[in-house]
Amino acid sequence: MLAKLFKQYYKKISPNALNVRDFEKREFAYMPFNKQTMIRHLSFTSPEQLKSLLEKETPLHVYYSSAYYENPSAPEMEEKNWLAADLVFDIDADHIYTPCKERHDTWRCLDCGHADKGMAPDKCPKCGSKKIDSESWVCDQCLEVAKGEALKLIEDFLSNDLGFSIKEMEIVFSGHRGFHVHVESPSALTLDVDARRELADYVRGLGIGLNFHGFSKVSNLLIGPSISDSGWRGRLARGFYDFLSKVDEETLLKLKMPKKWVKYFMDNRERIMAGLLQNPPYWSWLKISPSSLDKILSKAVECVACKIDERVTIDIKRLMRLPNSLHGKTGLIAVKIPYTKLDSFEPFKEASLLRGEVVKLKVIRMPEIKLGGVSIGPYKDEVVKLPIEIAIYLLAKGVGEPIEGIEL
Ligand SMILES: [Zn+2]
Ligand SMILES: [Zn+2]
Repeated sequence: MLAKLFKQYYKKISPNALNVRDFEKREFAYMPFNKQTMIRHLSFTSPEQLKSLLEKETPLHVYYSSAYYENPSAPEMEEKNWLAADLVFDIDADHIYTPCKERHDTWRCLDCGHADKGMAPDKCPKCGSKKIDSESWVCDQCLEVAKGEALKLIEDFLSNDLGFSIKEMEIVFSGHRGFHVHVESPSALTLDVDARRELADYVRGLGIGLNFHGFSKVSNLLIGPSISDSGWRGRLARGFYDFLSKVDEETLLKLKMPKKWVKYFMDNRERIMAGLLQNPPYWSWLKISPSSLDKILSKAVECVACKIDERVTIDIKRLMRLPNSLHGKTGLIAVKIPYTKLDSFEPFKEASLLRGEVVKLKVIRMPEIKLGGVSIGPYKDEVVKLPIEIAIYLLAKGVGEPIEGIEL
């Protein structure tokens, strides 16, 4: 049934919607339904050609290379002759902690069977295995967090700090609970792996040395950056201010700060915050040990850094989901999102295959999730009436079964 819907979609799609920059220099790949294989090293001279393949094969997932090659269809990577690659950033709620995951996500260790709710760990806490199977769900809160990170990346880092124009960025919905930002600026295309790693580290706030960002000690005074400074200086000051405004004693004790500093810090919090807003900022109320300052500032970095999946940015030969193709595990379309619409983007309104109708579906399992402000579920082994866009999502996730005699 899902395959039928996918086929209809690719039959109706305009070839233009499948176009990407320098189309004939890209490698394309797809994963068929019911087969765990990737058909790779394809190239096409026109989007029309690609469309007819998609219509005929009806893949579960479709990818294209972030790289541009002289011979994109050469079977060996060395023979492709790499020319350039888009600079790509991947933001995915899978990799960002959100409290709602405790309610809707589950994971299981494939080696020892240990299972739990919440965000999947990198390795099993019981046996250390890295073979973790997880079931994750899209929800309003997860999407909000991912959107916030994407906007921070685009506005704060890529545009303000690095000087890329928003017009040179393409924002694409990942098809689940994240976003891909492709920078197609000529100055970004030929960056090598090391340069991309540096950009990824910059965005993630790795290796931010305090003494390089305006912190110094002059006799007994602590000198620090101003909230209005550009780049990481201002970001550190803002992150610090932000951290201060929310922090409680428990958090500070968890940072293993000595009790006397924690007390001083909490007693003088208002004063420290007011000092940061002065021009020039006054940091010297912050009379804590250098190691405690380091601990707090690393928390401040966490608040303002951007949570990207760095592997995607560093990889110059990555296969990315093709814009406007379907995500086989959600049935959602990886739509392109104009920058001005990102903030209000709702996948089940703007990226679903079908909408509006209410259908009956047998739901095997579904936690309670909130979508577009409306709570759906929880359901377990029951027949329920659902909006068709949610029904397709459950079918694609493999937790819904169509009811005999009813056509979706
Ligand atoms: Zn285990
Ligand atoms: Zn969530």
